[in-house]
Amino acid sequence: MKRILVTGGAGFIGSHLCERLLREGNRVICLDNFLTGKKENIAHLMGNRFFELVEHDIMYAYPIDPVDEIYHLACPASPVHYQRDPIRTMKISVLGSYNVLGMAKLHRCKILLTSTSEIYGDPLVHPQPENYWGNVNTIGPRSCYDEGKRAAETLFMDYYRQEKVRIKIVRIFNTYGPGMLPDDGRVISNFILQALQNKDITIYGDGTQTRSFQYIDDLIEGLVRMMETGDHFTGPVNIGNPGEFTIRELAEQIISLSGSASRLVFHPLPADDPKQRRPDITLAREVLSWEPTIQLREGLLRMISYFRNRLEAESVVKSN
Ligand code: NAD
Ligand code: UDP
Repeated sequence: MKRILVTGGAGFIGSHLCERLLREGNRVICLDNFLTGKKENIAHLMGNRFFELVEHDIMYAYPIDPVDEIYHLACPASPVHYQRDPIRTMKISVLGSYNVLGMAKLHRCKILLTSTSEIYGDPLVHPQPENYWGNVNTIGPRSCYDEGKRAAETLFMDYYRQEKVRIKIVRIFNTYGPGMLPDDGRVISNFILQALQNKDITIYGDGTQTRSFQYIDDLIEGLVRMMETGDHFTGPVNIGNPGEFTIRELAEQIISLSGSASRLVFHPLPADDPKQRRPDITLAREVLSWEPTIQLREGLLRMISYFRNRLEAESVVKSN
């Protein structure tokens, strides 16, 4: 039985990961300060005697007992959340990574960073392979997140070269699935909630920008496979679904699958919003034998049913 630390374990991805690691017979310590995560995400795990919650801000060091592996997720991820307090976002990314790398150095354990496709910025190479260095604005409203994660990757690589820490870097592309909170602010949860309530669907810009969306279960499989690789393989490795859609296509598909009467409305495009994004997953295929298994239509149907149940449950509570 391994002892595994998951920072950010009460968030969207973290709660799915904790669940998976527990199912595989591990002890899981979830460290979170509930900045964007919620207790409801892990409520179903709280009775499990192999699950432990530590309420702590990873910007500050934490004296943890020895662990075998660390998955470092703690960081706000939705643009709405990470731009609310950009100074804090940058501090979490850099100081948080510094603190967990200190733990990994002390306990000589493996440590995996959940980096992001945002490190490619508004990419000029398409699709994006891992050896593309990216096109990031250093001084824009998204920079706190993009540059924060770039600095985190640098710290991870320097701890690998200088201190021989056993690191892994995964660049995650847009991920969605049950467990996303209604106030998450990212595009799929926004559009589905709007569609289910027949409200206007808010497209930013003209909707021709593209994204590639992966379902949560595929991502979790990729993270676990990456952790299982030998110490020589640090990554970075892209984990994402290469199916690429415009934001307008996404809105139309959600309207059609949910049988909604919503209309499309167009709002200004936020500054530095990337125009295109699609992962090149050749490396993940070769080294991890990984590729996504759930395509957008199937994943959206599951998400629509998840949010429909949630809205119904909330309306029952309100009417009582
Ligand atoms: P999320 O906001 O749901 O989860 C982040 C979790 O980290 C939350 O539970 C939050 O409370 C916690 N946290 C934030 N700051 C903290 C701090 N200082 N100390 C302790 N805990 C803290 O986001 P998510 O979508 O689950 O993302 C998880 C990770 O994956 C993030 O590192 C994010 O950058 C990365 N990622 C996510 C996506 C995606 O599409 N969801 C894409 C690329 C990368
Ligand atoms: N977006 C949108 N309407 C929304 C939320 C987002 O049109 O209500 C757009 C956003 O401008 C971006 C894309 O959808 O072009 C994906 O946004 P998200 O915040 O989900 O992720 P990211 O920009 O980080 O990829």
